[in-house]
Amino acid sequence: MNEQLQQDAAQPEQVLATAVHAAIEFLHSLPTRPAAVAPFITDREQLPAVGVGVAAALAHFRQKYERGLSGSAGPRYLGFVTGGVTPAALVGDWLTAVYDQNPTADHDSIAPQVEQEALHFLRQLFVLPDEFAGTFVSGATMSNFVGLAQARQWAARQQGHDPSQDGLYGLPPIPVLATSPHSSSYKALAMLGMGKRHLSRVPMLPEREAMDVSALDAALTAVAGPAIVIASAGTVNTVDFDDLLAIAALKAKHNFWLHLDAAFGGFAACSPRYAHLMEGAELADSITIDGHKWLNVPYDSAITFSRHPRLQVEVFHNAAAYLGEVGDNPAPVHWTPQNSRRFRALPAWLTLWAYGRDGYRDIVERNCDQAGWLGDQISQSAQFRLLAPVRLNVVCFTLAGEPTAAVVDRFLTKVRDDGRVFLTPTVYQGIPGIRAAFSNWQTTERDLEIIWQALQEMAA
Ligand SMILES: *Cc1c(COP(=O)(O)O)cnc(C)c1O
Repeated sequence: MNEQLQQDAAQPEQVLATAVHAAIEFLHSLPTRPAAVAPFITDREQLPAVGVGVAAALAHFRQKYERGLSGSAGPRYLGFVTGGVTPAALVGDWLTAVYDQNPTADHDSIAPQVEQEALHFLRQLFVLPDEFAGTFVSGATMSNFVGLAQARQWAARQQGHDPSQDGLYGLPPIPVLATSPHSSSYKALAMLGMGKRHLSRVPMLPEREAMDVSALDAALTAVAGPAIVIASAGTVNTVDFDDLLAIAALKAKHNFWLHLDAAFGGFAACSPRYAHLMEGAELADSITIDGHKWLNVPYDSAITFSRHPRLQVEVFHNAAAYLGEVGDNPAPVHWTPQNSRRFRALPAWLTLWAYGRDGYRDIVERNCDQAGWLGDQISQSAQFRLLAPVRLNVVCFTLAGEPTAAVVDRFLTKVRDDGRVFLTPTVYQGIPGIRAAFSNWQTTERDLEIIWQALQEMAA
């Protein structure tokens, strides 16, 4: 055996202690570490012929790169929609590597059953009926892909085609309708051979990002054959929700698959204050929920729910002699684009068991209160302007006056370089804007004060 490998293997306690030590130092640095860091140029080194062992390798990594790591796991990174990592999720993720299970087959370990239990907890958290089959995937993009792949299979099946066998050759385009879809739905349509161009935008309600359901009704009347509707439970700009009950009610009149992108907005279901926004989610055919956002498990993790497990397996069936027949309970290998995969369920299982329903209600309500507080400050400030009411956990605002995209960009670069908070740009109703998204369990009132102070100083 290689000498360095042998030395490391001989002292597992010391090796793990170096990781614990580095982790504790990093975690302690989070409150003061810059929320985001401008990337810097480093010399690219050559692969060593003779290695140095893990302790020296880690020391070298930290010395060279640690100052370039952002505080994205910390309390004041409000860019995109970025979750942190709960202590239980962290322990789960570390042990995922230790256990190194591959929950792909269902007959060589308990891991697939742990996954099924974690998915059961998640169904309960989102108040979804047991009919929904669940699967862990790498992110909401992949979850949208898996949902829309089934929708494609369903729509083509109705016309006597099986795209999993025959492809889409010779089929007319399948109409896809949505109002404020996430960019990843377009990406999924591109990957599925359905074409981004075949997504039609249904008009919004006035002053909203939510769908005008009567316009959807008219659009569905106009299309021939089965269609796909992508509903939003939480748009990225203003966390607006489509009226899921009203959309689902159209199923009585029209033939469509309802895919629900609830990547982070789905967590509204965790709080009685917001649960009404998710009413009707149980009527969707497929649902996307992200894990590495509001569930606060580390990258990468998401969940895909489906009412049509047979269709899901039809698409993702991985036939091989060594895997055996697909019975009534197909093994995980037949459910997603991945064959081998990480034991992603473990961090989710541990954090759900450790903090329970009340723990997630607390995270969601605190983050929403924080967004509400910042929205109040902004609406009373002469330096900023709120672009939309704060509905859940995102504040969509801009600088006072009529700022151009370049002005907003300059402001955001200044904010990033200051380091106290990190925010990302957007465009809302044609206006260059800024989003502040709260989805980290660690953010406190003290952080809010620091954030507000920084924003005022940077805009001065
Ligand atoms: C973040 C997000 C996605 C994509 O999620 P990834 O986890 O980055 O793949 C899709 N839909 C919505 C609504 C999102 O907020």
